[in-house]
Amino acid sequence: MTDFRSDTVTQPSEAMKAAMLAAPLGDDVFQDDPTVNELQRYAAELLGFEAALFAPSGTQTNLIALMAHCQRGDEAIVGQQWHTYRWEGGGMAVLGSIQPQPIEHQPDGTLALEHIRAAVKPDDPHFARTKLIVMENTTGGKVLPLAYMNSVAALTKELGLKCHIDGARLMNAAVALATEDGSDPIQKARELCAGFDSVSLCLSKGLGAPVGSLLLGSHAFIQQARRLRKMLGGGMRQAGVLAAAGLYALQHNIQRLAEDHQHAQQLADGLQHIAAEHPLLKGKLELVSVHTNILFTDIAVEVAEPLLAYLSEQGIKLTSSNYNKADQYYKRVRWVTHLDIKATDIQGALDVVQKFRL
Ligand SMILES: *Cc1c(COP(=O)(O)O)cnc(C)c1O
Repeated sequence: MTDFRSDTVTQPSEAMKAAMLAAPLGDDVFQDDPTVNELQRYAAELLGFEAALFAPSGTQTNLIALMAHCQRGDEAIVGQQWHTYRWEGGGMAVLGSIQPQPIEHQPDGTLALEHIRAAVKPDDPHFARTKLIVMENTTGGKVLPLAYMNSVAALTKELGLKCHIDGARLMNAAVALATEDGSDPIQKARELCAGFDSVSLCLSKGLGAPVGSLLLGSHAFIQQARRLRKMLGGGMRQAGVLAAAGLYALQHNIQRLAEDHQHAQQLADGLQHIAAEHPLLKGKLELVSVHTNILFTDIAVEVAEPLLAYLSEQGIKLTSSNYNKADQYYKRVRWVTHLDIKATDIQGALDVVQKFRL
């Protein structure tokens, strides 16, 4: 079986499980779990923040950040497709009483600086109080460039606002940029976060831990975040058993994300090649984008349905959504590579696609 649904499906490796079993534990609500404390210290130092907080999920670290930065009736500027706006059950509005102000994306995934500037409300009783700008990197697998991130941070300071990065896959962005210019991915990650007030980072995606996300920021911010985490039910007790997996992930699984990126490219090249010749897929399968570890393909709906059923029978798992482009219906199919997918699995999947017949 090859599971391309998400990089969240990875299983903890034997070495990671050994680290979990060996972890010294305490009660993290009393802040005396040594492994959680070590993970938080390690992560804060790694990314150049004063402090960090371990929580069960990225949805929760984002919500905590939003609620720490914004009060009831405040507004957060987000992208139309940001996870914080679209994929977190409306948590910022439902639980935080925070108004999202979405902005349309540029084709490269960024939000135009002039659009952000124009969305900031004047101090006038008609409007919610603009407080926060949220970025997401990577977004749909796309890397928001370093110069762009720096200019968002600068704009935020100029406007007197706060800024947060949903960095669920921040390390994928850092590794992709570092691969391009031969620099150190950790240094890149630090530069991507520079000037931002807070960042959330998922341990359970490409980094391969079974559970967990980190929130990073100043001491004062993390103190506030700890109160919110408790309120939201995220205070865990002997959480070191999970934190050990996160620590192992940060120490061993960052550099190797480059392999996932190569595999996504290998998959894209192979599918492109097949689509050019295949009797059923020719003109029906189009690569939309391949960035970092995420590939999107649009497949004409009449072919997509039998193809997806066939791939599922063959043990190839994918996610898809309906997509309308110039009045044509497509399935937008997402292929995500991760540490449980090897180069041979990519070749295997391509061979299966090649053999697709009705
Ligand atoms: C997965 C993801 C999250 C949320 O993480 P969970 O741990 O699944 O709650 C947040 N933001 C982005 C961009 C993500 O991809």
